Amino acid sequence: TKRTTFKTIDPTTGKELTTYSYMTDDEVEQSIQQSHKAFLQWRTKSVEERGKVIENIGKELQNYKADLAELMTKEMGKLLKQSKQEVDLCTAICDYSAANAPKVFQKEERELSNGGKGIVTYSPIGIIYGIMPWNYPSYQVIRYTIANLMAGNSILLKHASNVTGTALLLKSIFDTAGLPDGLFNVMVIDHDQSNTIIDHELVRGVTLTGSSGAGEKVGELAGKNLKKSVLELGSNDAYLILDDADIATAVEKSVKGRIYNNGETCIAAKRFIATEKVYDKFKEEFVKAMKALTIGDPTAEDTELGPMARKDLRETIHEQVLKSIEKGARLLCGGELMDGDGYYYPATVLDQVSPGQPAYDEELFGPVASLIKAKDDEDAMRIANDSRFGLGGGIFSKDVDKAIKLAEQHFDTGMIFINSFGLAEPAMPFGGVKDSGYGREHGGFGMKEFVNVKSIMIS
Ligand code: NAP
Repeated sequence: TKRTTFKTIDPTTGKELTTYSYMTDDEVEQSIQQSHKAFLQWRTKSVEERGKVIENIGKELQNYKADLAELMTKEMGKLLKQSKQEVDLCTAICDYSAANAPKVFQKEERELSNGGKGIVTYSPIGIIYGIMPWNYPSYQVIRYTIANLMAGNSILLKHASNVTGTALLLKSIFDTAGLPDGLFNVMVIDHDQSNTIIDHELVRGVTLTGSSGAGEKVGELAGKNLKKSVLELGSNDAYLILDDADIATAVEKSVKGRIYNNGETCIAAKRFIATEKVYDKFKEEFVKAMKALTIGDPTAEDTELGPMARKDLRETIHEQVLKSIEKGARLLCGGELMDGDGYYYPATVLDQVSPGQPAYDEELFGPVASLIKAKDDEDAMRIANDSRFGLGGGIFSKDVDKAIKLAEQHFDTGMIFINSFGLAEPAMPFGGVKDSGYGREHGGFGMKEFVNVKSIMIS
């Protein structure tokens, strides 16, 4: 039978990069069997032995840094310097995981009521299937793969089709680092084949990072199969600019937080909610800074904003902008499709953003900022929480104690950044609440998402 193929496209030029074929159903089955066999061996290794391989992966990532960074930029358009930063973050995750796993997976001893001894172990459960997005093509893979390899599980990866090359290069880096065969398999498959993997009895856990729409479908199927899932989904993160904020800091960090990774970050700053007292000043300086950004070739050193990753993503965000304007938002800059072959979208600012507009209700996954005026600090917090999402968020205030209190007692998100914008930290839990999903990546929480907490009792 003829294999179905698909092409990857360079968003900077609109030109085709590579043609790939989907795997056959037989190949998918073989891959699952191989993954299970590899798991049965890997589960018997000590955490320290696994850690050595993980450290090697971290080193090999550095050896391949230039190739990996270049390929990521070609496949999805992120700035080359940010691609390199992404590889460094991947290595940091490997190092952190190898160093901390022995403590995380430490067995615990308990006294039993009959005088016997109890042992609690954190044992692996088998194949973990991950469906990953293209926006951080290496980091997204590394963060769940390394945690689960440390736990003793094996990995099947279905990466976003537009970054298939990166997935395959990661596989060869893992091989070079000495990861045993079958522990990390790349599945080049369509959505139907993905469903058969979730159904498969040897697959014991499912983790998806992507849009809330994909999360609903994958989470439903995992639930039907009584399999644990982790869902890391989208968001519309709010940043509060409070009465006592330092406006220069707020502007600088807000612009970076919105446009980092070409605006295609789940925890990007998306809604900026400033109080009446500081709104006009913030708006004026923020728009000035957004207008001044250098947009262009992602490999050029002075570029600050590159193209969007796919043509359809640019169409979607443009429609969201137009619809928001139609429903009362005011366009302060950007908002027009740019000429040329690449999928560029200008840095765009909307104000008078209010409920009923896509800019208020939905995730805008690109370089578009929504400004909202609040009466006071309390009102700003209320507006931030008036969202179906709850991944990250930020607070700008000179009173850090006040900001911590707001973050802890009032902010309905999984991550809050005070006086800056957020990126991933290997030691800090990463994940959301509400429609942004459930479960956590990173740190001990990430390593323990897919384990069997086992009680062994000796009389
Ligand atoms: P997407 O369309 O949901 O795709 C993400 C992944 O899911 C891709 O591998 C895609 O495969 C796959 N997929 C989609 N529908 C599927 C289905 N029904 N069955 C099996 N696989 C399916 O998301 P995206 O637009 O690429 O990524 C951006 C979204 O991810 C944003 O909403 C962003 O906020 C979110 N995100 C969240 C986090 C987090 O940690 N919370 C991190 C990064 C991104 P194909 O490419 O083959 O369609």
